[in-house]
Amino acid sequence: MTPSCILLRESTDAATFEAAVWGGVFNLRRDTSRVPAAVCRARTTADVVAGVELARARGWRVSIRSGGHSWAAWSVRQDAVLLDLGQLHVDHHDTTGNIKGPGPGWIDYDEATGIVSCPPATTGQTLNGVLAAKGRMFAGGHCPDVGLGGFLLQGGMGWNCKNWGWACEAVAAIDAVTADGEVVHCCESDMDMDIMDSDGTGPGTKAGDLFWAARGAGPGFPAVVTRFHLRTRPLLQLFHSVYVYPLAAFRAVLAWAIEAAPTADPDTEMVCVSSYSPGATVPTVLAHFTTFKPSLAAAKRALSPLDGHAARPPGATVAVFCQPTSLAAQYADQAAANPGPATHRYCSDNAYIRAGDDDDRTVVPAILERAFTTLPSRQSCALWFSMNPTSRRPGRACDAALSMQSDHYFALYAVWEHERDDAAHVGWVHDTLRAVEPHAVGSYLGDADFRHRTPKFWTDECAARLRDVRRAWDPDGRVCGFLGQGDRSGVDGLPVANN
Ligand SMILES: Cc1cc2nc3c(=O)[nH]c(=O)nc-3n(C[C@H](O)[C@H](O)[C@H](O)COP(=O)(O)OP(=O)(O)OC[C@H]3O[C@@H](n4cnc5c(N)ncnc54)[C@H](O)[C@@H]3O)c2cc1C
Repeated sequence: MTPSCILLRESTDAATFEAAVWGGVFNLRRDTSRVPAAVCRARTTADVVAGVELARARGWRVSIRSGGHSWAAWSVRQDAVLLDLGQLHVDHHDTTGNIKGPGPGWIDYDEATGIVSCPPATTGQTLNGVLAAKGRMFAGGHCPDVGLGGFLLQGGMGWNCKNWGWACEAVAAIDAVTADGEVVHCCESDMDMDIMDSDGTGPGTKAGDLFWAARGAGPGFPAVVTRFHLRTRPLLQLFHSVYVYPLAAFRAVLAWAIEAAPTADPDTEMVCVSSYSPGATVPTVLAHFTTFKPSLAAAKRALSPLDGHAARPPGATVAVFCQPTSLAAQYADQAAANPGPATHRYCSDNAYIRAGDDDDRTVVPAILERAFTTLPSRQSCALWFSMNPTSRRPGRACDAALSMQSDHYFALYAVWEHERDDAAHVGWVHDTLRAVEPHAVGSYLGDADFRHRTPKFWTDECAARLRDVRRAWDPDGRVCGFLGQGDRSGVDGLPVANN
C-alpha cells in the first residue's frame, strides 16, 4: 500500500496534485509541462525512505525540494517522485528522534560545541531566530525564506561570505538518505577514511566523498539530505553605511568599491547594486557596506576607511554612515526586493568576472556597465558582490566540491509580474550575460539555469571527482540531478565540454 504521505498522480485529483507540485515553488514563471509521477510530503526520515523506495520499485527518479527557491524550480521533474521536505522534522522530537507531538520544529543547539542541527527546509531567518536566543548566528542567505537545503549544497553565499567564507564551510555533518534508501551520517573526519567494499576488494562508496560533494554539488548531490549539523558563530550587532548615486556615476562607484575591498575590514560585507529605490522614477546605483561588530565604536572604525576612502566619488544623493541595523531589518529589505512566493516572475544568471588585479577598477566597471544601466523593470536589479579575500585563500583546492570563484561576483535578477513580459525580461538576462561571458571564469550554481547556459561551475579536477562520486553513490541516476535542456544529464552531469 502507498504510504499516506505520498500522492500519486494517477490517483489524485488534478487540482490537489498540482497544488502539491507547485505550491512550494517561489518563482511564478514555471514550466508546467514537467509533471511528476508522485509527491512525497515527508514529515520523517522514514517517509523520505518510503519515497525513494517507491521510485526504485516503479523505476522512477526522485527530485527534492527543501525551501523551493531554486529560480528554475529544479524540484519539479517529469515522472519523478518529488520529495517535498518542507514539513520534514517539523514535529517536536525527543532526544532519540521519536516524535513527541506537533511542535515548533526540530532545531537542536548544542551549547558545548556551538553546533546547531536542523532540517533542510529551515530558512536562514528561522534558524537565526532560534540562535539569537543563544547569542549565536548562522551566516545563511540574505533572503529570509531561502531553504538551507539548496543554499548549502551549492555553496551558500551567506552573510559576509567575502571574509567569513562560504556558508557550506560551516557544515560539520549531514544526515542523508541515499539513492538506495539507506540512512547515512557523514562528516568531515569521514573524508580521511577509506572504506572497503563488503567483499574487501577495494575502496567502496565512501562517506567522506558524500560529505565532500555536499559542499558544492548543488542539485547534483546524489542523495537526500535530511538534516544539517552546522557550526554557528557569535551574534554581533549589525551596522551599515549606504551611499546612493545617480546611474551616471556607476563606473566611479564600482571602481571605489573594488579598490577598497581587499583591505576593508574583515567583518564587513560590500555590495554594489543598481535598482529602483521605492518611489524613484529612475534607477540608482547603491554601495552598501554591512558590518558585524560588538559595538558602535568598533563599527565606526570598520566603516570609516570606506567613508573617507580617497576613491569615494562625490555626488552621493544619499550618504548614510554607520547606522545601526539588524538581521531582521535586512531580511525585511530583502523580502521587499524579492516579492513572493508565487506573486512575481523571476529570471537570474550570474558570472564570476575574471580578476586582473591592478586594472580591475577600470576593467570590471566597463564590463558591467551595460548590465547595471539597462534594467528592464522597476523590480529588477544588477548586483556586484565582493568575494575578495575569500576568493584569494590559498590551499582550499578541492577539499569540497565548491571550487569556482573570483574576486567579483556579478548577478542579474529580472523581476516582473506578467507573462506577456517574459520574453523581454528573460531576453535581457540572457543577452546581457552573453556579453559578459567572455570576461568570466565561471558561475555560481545558486543563480544559474542550466537549460540556458552551462558555464564552468567547478574546477576541472573537482568536476571530474564530482562525476565519480555521483556515479558511485547513484549509479542508476535515481536522483534527478541537473535540469539541463531536455532534462537528460543523468549520471553524466552537465556537459563535459564545460567542465
Ligand atoms: C529570493 C531569493 C534569494 C536568494 N538569495 C541567495 C543568497 O543570498 N545567497 C545564495 O547563495 N543564494 C541565494 N539564492 C539562491 C538559492 O540559494 C538557491 O535557489 C537554492 O537552491 C535555494 O534553496 P531551496 O532549498 O530554497 O530551494 P529548492 O528549490 O528546494 O532546492 C533546489 C535544489 O537543491 C537540491 N536540494 C535541495 N534540498 C536538498 C536536500 N535536502 N537534499 C538533496 N538535494 C537538495 C535539489 O536539487 C533541489 O531541487 C536566492 C534565491 C532566491 C529565490
